[in-house]
Amino acid sequence: MDFDRLVADAEMCVRCGLCTSVCPTYNLFHEEIQGPRGRVLLYADYAQGLVPETEKALVLAAAYDCLDCRACQTVCPNGVRPGEAALDTRVALQGGRPKDRLTALALWFFHFPLLVDLANLLLVVYQRSGLQRLLRSSRLLDRLGLKKLAFAESLLPERPVRPALRLTGPRRLEPEGEAKGRVAFFLGCVMNLVFSEASEATVRVIQSAGYQVVIPRETTCCGAPHIEEGDLEGFERLAKRNIALYAGLEVDHIVTDCAACAAELKKYARHFRGDPYWGPLAEKVSSRVLLFSEFLDRAGLPRSIRFPFATTHQHACHACHAQGVKEEPERVLTFVADYRPMEGSTDCCGSAGVYNLTHTSTSMAILEKKMASVRASGAEVLTVENPGCLLQLDLGARRFGPRVEVKHLSQVVWEAMQRGEG
Ligand code: SF4
Ligand code: SF4
Repeated sequence: MDFDRLVADAEMCVRCGLCTSVCPTYNLFHEEIQGPRGRVLLYADYAQGLVPETEKALVLAAAYDCLDCRACQTVCPNGVRPGEAALDTRVALQGGRPKDRLTALALWFFHFPLLVDLANLLLVVYQRSGLQRLLRSSRLLDRLGLKKLAFAESLLPERPVRPALRLTGPRRLEPEGEAKGRVAFFLGCVMNLVFSEASEATVRVIQSAGYQVVIPRETTCCGAPHIEEGDLEGFERLAKRNIALYAGLEVDHIVTDCAACAAELKKYARHFRGDPYWGPLAEKVSSRVLLFSEFLDRAGLPRSIRFPFATTHQHACHACHAQGVKEEPERVLTFVADYRPMEGSTDCCGSAGVYNLTHTSTSMAILEKKMASVRASGAEVLTVENPGCLLQLDLGARRFGPRVEVKHLSQVVWEAMQRGEG
């Protein structure tokens, strides 16, 4: 176990407290152990043997209470990494494996893209058969006392889910207009599972920007869910499969419409640095990865498009805090729509992987605050570039209001392109 980085984080911390003001859990509970500074010191104390082994579960619980939103890392003047340290702690204390059998089973599922596609088809049938409507109107899961399952079900969107892009979409799209280059589109698991219409919009926009698009069907999960759950072995296995696939592709960019995937793919190079075989290949992949808004901001948009609705944007934590991608989607929306900036748009929405399932009441308190900001923005449409946030914000609109339409940024751009001159 490599505890050195945990100790280094604590040594760099000067206890200034800047990070506590932006930490969602600290702002809810006002306890040091629910904030970045307290967490970093606790991890380091454990790493140095200052916490008795009997308290290991408490240290691990503190690491899982963190949303890994990394808002603290954006404001920290000394480069301390409380969010990433939470992940390192999970890996270290679990020996690089999932914490229990249920988690192991859930993570195993993401090793097989075909299972993701199968789950997508089951979801399509579940909705179209009327079963979803029936379950929701009867509140059957609640009545049976299956609260967790009922909450998980409530996260599914009401609008009909389309069959997965990997199953039904094209393998290649030729560029429109003058050819500018070649892009590989990275199929994210949850995007493919629930938001294939958004990914379809993404690839159409890339094509319209003058790029040939290739969509490798052999793409597998980026490994983000695995590293979030301390499963280092699973992460590395998946990362190597993607690296082997994408390093060999002759493309200018690897574009994804999932902020968590983009952050993870960009991290491959750092993770495998020093490995004589995987290091150079990982660098070849990471250096070409762009989140959709980053790509579009560089590629440019046609002048004559307009999305006619007041639109605000939620910055996914894995975009703004993990990658520093913040101005790009704002520039795109300013150009395309009646953009309404939102207060606290870089604050976490409470989704955070499976945080909304494991810490539901905390997550809902964070979400309610977020929806109040959405209401204050006066927007009719809310965009974001991450599937977990799309699910969470859609639930927020249904549960707390306002009843905004929640869309991926690429859907707004694609709709604007289809409308033409506004
Ligand atoms: S902002 Fe950085 S240095 Fe200041 S208390 Fe937080 S982690 Fe420590
Ligand atoms: S990553 Fe987010 S939740 Fe975790 S300590 Fe930092 S600000 Fe708080």
